[in-house]
Amino acid sequence: MKPKDPLEVFVRYPDGKERFTGHACGTCGILSSVTSFIGTEEELTKLTKDAATRCCNPTCRVCGKQTERYHKLCSECRHKQFNERARLEEEQRRAKAEKVSYVDYKGGGVFLDDRFFESVGDVLEHCECDAVDPPQDVWGAIEIPFCLDADHVVDNALDDHHDGAGDDLSNASVKELQELLDGWCQKQGIVSYEADWSTLVIMPEPESDDDEEAADPS
Ligand SMILES: [Zn+2]
Ligand SMILES: [Zn+2]
Repeated sequence: MKPKDPLEVFVRYPDGKERFTGHACGTCGILSSVTSFIGTEEELTKLTKDAATRCCNPTCRVCGKQTERYHKLCSECRHKQFNERARLEEEQRRAKAEKVSYVDYKGGGVFLDDRFFESVGDVLEHCECDAVDPPQDVWGAIEIPFCLDADHVVDNALDDHHDGAGDDLSNASVKELQELLDGWCQKQGIVSYEADWSTLVIMPEPESDDDEEAADPS
């Protein structure tokens, strides 16, 4: 079915004057009102006309293909846009990151594609196992602290008590609890890492085996 052209909609005031209020879908009549948008009069005319045109015939703004209602882009273009954004973010992150040679890197591990490795050596081993070229760089890793917050612990414990039950708790006693908690946490030896997006660890140069490859055509 060919979509019908959008219709201009005006309201008439008692004094006979008419005011433009938007565009209605030519097919189903739903109004795209100027109140839904922000812009100059000219922009509002264009925006409401566009919305009304797309109402029963939503098309992708990039490729023009039919798309789901209320979507500006088709799923393919949405996907592309998402990937492109992720790529740009990664590019910016890489540009900003401090580059550290693996020799000088002092962190407790590295990340390759969201996977943690205890060392650059482990990354090389993993790549060799999977028969893939090792990356030129990997992300650094930072330890996620394992800790309990005394204020939270106390607040939780006071939840079922009467109002003001904790008023007499002094800062010093909360501090004392914090020290106990810190000591306890440390004893548990729980260590996890997350990627350090501010540090790129430069991997060792791959050993050249061009000569071997040239000599061995297989
Ligand atoms: Zn419609
Ligand atoms: Zn598209």
